[in-house]
Amino acid sequence: MTDVLTSTVETLARSGLFIGGSWTAAAAGGVYQTVNPADRSVIAEVANGTAADIEAAVQAARQAFDRGSWPRLSGHERARVLFAVADLIERDSEEIATLDTLEMGKPISSTRAEVAAAAAIYRYYAGLAGDLSGSTHSPVGNGFVYTLREPIGVIGAITPFNAPLVLATSKLAPALAAGNTVVHKPSDTTPLSALKIARLFVEAGLPEGVLNVVPGTGAGPGIALVAHPAVDKIAFTGSTGVGQQIIKASADTFKKVSVELGGKSANIVFADAYLDQAIADAFFGVFYTSGQLCVAGSRLLVQRPVYDQVIEGLVKTAESFQPGDPMDPATLIGPLAHQAQFDRVSDYVRLGRLEGAELVTGGHPAHPQGFESGWFYAPTIFSNVRNDMRIAQEEIFGPVLGVIPFDTEEEAVAIANDSEFGLASGVQTADIKRAHRVAAAMRAGGCWINTYNQWDQSISFGGRKASGYSRELGIGTLHAYTESKSVWVGLQSQPEG
Ligand code: NAP
Repeated sequence: MTDVLTSTVETLARSGLFIGGSWTAAAAGGVYQTVNPADRSVIAEVANGTAADIEAAVQAARQAFDRGSWPRLSGHERARVLFAVADLIERDSEEIATLDTLEMGKPISSTRAEVAAAAAIYRYYAGLAGDLSGSTHSPVGNGFVYTLREPIGVIGAITPFNAPLVLATSKLAPALAAGNTVVHKPSDTTPLSALKIARLFVEAGLPEGVLNVVPGTGAGPGIALVAHPAVDKIAFTGSTGVGQQIIKASADTFKKVSVELGGKSANIVFADAYLDQAIADAFFGVFYTSGQLCVAGSRLLVQRPVYDQVIEGLVKTAESFQPGDPMDPATLIGPLAHQAQFDRVSDYVRLGRLEGAELVTGGHPAHPQGFESGWFYAPTIFSNVRNDMRIAQEEIFGPVLGVIPFDTEEEAVAIANDSEFGLASGVQTADIKRAHRVAAAMRAGGCWINTYNQWDQSISFGGRKASGYSRELGIGTLHAYTESKSVWVGLQSQPEG
């Protein structure tokens, strides 16, 4: 680490939790260590928030919402703060990218891109903040009706480890733009970029209590946030199992909930596809972030006439993109984020072999020189996978691709949709009619035609079925952080006398 970064990490870690505009130690006094997955060195000792800290953070957010200025400012005034934060993120971009790379092992080229994406998301919602409007309906009854879009209140944002900055931004930016206040509970694996963003918000002039950040280990802080009666909405991204628990728990307090959950996305390659591009897209569509990617196209369906050719191309690509030092700008595949991820991937690879899939490359740890203790795993490809195998049905969330052969379009669509998940999908073909037909038939929140894993802040993103039912990004998400109120205006006066 450079001296500047060492001092940033120390400052962030020493400051503790961010509650009510102040930096504070955890109520129970605990700390925990975050670990660099590339070499298992300790990065920092971070305050370990518990339910007591969530309580304090929710009270601060409640007070800021009920009595503070933020919800009462015009959208244009809130936009000034969000634009300022975007500028500050760009000013400190290298530092923020490095924090995420150190804590979860995502290559620096990817975290740099995600920092740029975060600034773009803040600007997008800042631009929309001043235009948050309802509608008018006239005549209705004996007069007319207008609708207001009001902020919901206190938002509990709970985020996973795999894209810490972007997934937090996808919640904070629209929530704050709409005038809500927020308690953010980042993954315990990746607290530092969340704490850094809180510092930038202070610099940008966000009023006290509007944003609170409480990292903490285990499920405790998240459960406390979901159960809290003073929290009006939970915005959650994470695993399907935890998402389901959150949906159930939210019923007790009538909370709104948005859930962005796991995936097992199918990417279909037809024999007429532009094969070089399709192979490259399929490869990075699953091995980006070492497969720790919700939209990973981890089920690759390939039409039989090109099956062997595609497998050969994938194996060649895998062998030329082995994991490397995540801080090296040339590295495209880093380590897995923590021990549990490494164990999970190893277990699924064992299972794939037992189920009879054919391992064509990988299937073992792959340490770059000098990183022998890191959680690195080789890009792993199984061929002759059947869709009823567990490795084809369950989310591995690691660098493991299962390739399934098919003959007809109808069969490919049936296999693709035979999944409890429905997050992303892909279709690779030169036949324009088939491309749109298949995209329409996919039971998924999105479909990429002749590309994979593209996004834009103005395009909504999300899933169906066990992948969750919400959407993030796009204008609809701003509305999802508001309540609509209908105001009836009577225009007919009572007859006199
Ligand atoms: P996770 O284990 O579900 O954790 C997500 C967040 O929830 C973390 O902050 C976690 O805290 C917290 N948490 C854990 N148990 C909780 C509980 N009972 N109540 C409330 N909060 C709780 O997921 P992950 O392993 O971090 O992330 C991987 C998963 O996220 C994958 O399934 C992936 O597909 C999904 N994901 C989905 C999307 C999408 O947009 N659909 C995007 C990215 C990732 P701690 O980490 O501190 O324990």
